[in-house]
Amino acid sequence: MLVNMKQILKVAKENDFAVPAFNISSAPMFNGVMEKCEQLNSPVIIAIHPDELSFIGDSFVEMIKDRANKSKLPVVLHLDHGSTKEQILRAIRDGFTSVMIDASLLSFEENIKLTKEIISMSRPLNVSVEAELGTIGQDKESVEGGADEIIYTNPKDAKDFVEQTDCDTLAIAIGTAHGLYPEGFEPKLRINILKEIKQLVDIPLVLHGGSGNPDSEISEAVRNGINKVNISSDIKAAFYKECREVLTDKGVREPNVIYPRCIKKMQEVIEHKIKLFRSDDKLKLY
Ligand SMILES: [Zn+2]
Repeated sequence: MLVNMKQILKVAKENDFAVPAFNISSAPMFNGVMEKCEQLNSPVIIAIHPDELSFIGDSFVEMIKDRANKSKLPVVLHLDHGSTKEQILRAIRDGFTSVMIDASLLSFEENIKLTKEIISMSRPLNVSVEAELGTIGQDKESVEGGADEIIYTNPKDAKDFVEQTDCDTLAIAIGTAHGLYPEGFEPKLRINILKEIKQLVDIPLVLHGGSGNPDSEISEAVRNGINKVNISSDIKAAFYKECREVLTDKGVREPNVIYPRCIKKMQEVIEHKIKLFRSDDKLKLY
């Protein structure tokens, strides 16, 4: 069934695991995500970026909600990296149960102001709000954007920000970048910053852009207070790598022949992530 972010992450925070947020913008990928999460009894967040929403269209969201409401799993429908009120309003009208307002490139004060405005229009409708403080790096292919360099979240600022905005969840920058990292680039998570933030802030924390970080770092982050991890590039890369293989056979053209193999490869990554975040078999806690 559809739930909001506050509901799904409350359980994750109490039980020290992270719920995966998968960015999807096609039916094969969406159905593949749902099928694998149901197999593993993992709660799931379906994340859609405004550019992805423009691509799939509002009617597609009706299908997602229908599928989510028929599922045994708690499912959040989340707008990833909303940056304007118009984008947030579109998501709310479409029935999203959670939105992110990413005003991290604005000044601290402006970020607080816009986040509070979004909360004032979302909360009465039971829609959760994720804010972001600090900036996450980017690669040029990534749909989510980001800054050219990572600005680490200042723990004291995080405390002030949460107190002043009363946001439901907070995305923090501790050394990840969006997209797949270039060869030779070794990201390093600053777990000490996460621990400091965790001591000062009592809401679930979110990690974006962990695709290229080693598993050991991600699981350490989950053990230290990350309750939602965004996954986008990793599943898309697995899906389309296989897709390229399938299409080397020039004769294939039927979607029901092409996509099952791609879905299977994507699901291997999904299963790996779910186990890494320890969200498998957590349905029983809801
Ligand atoms: Zn992101």
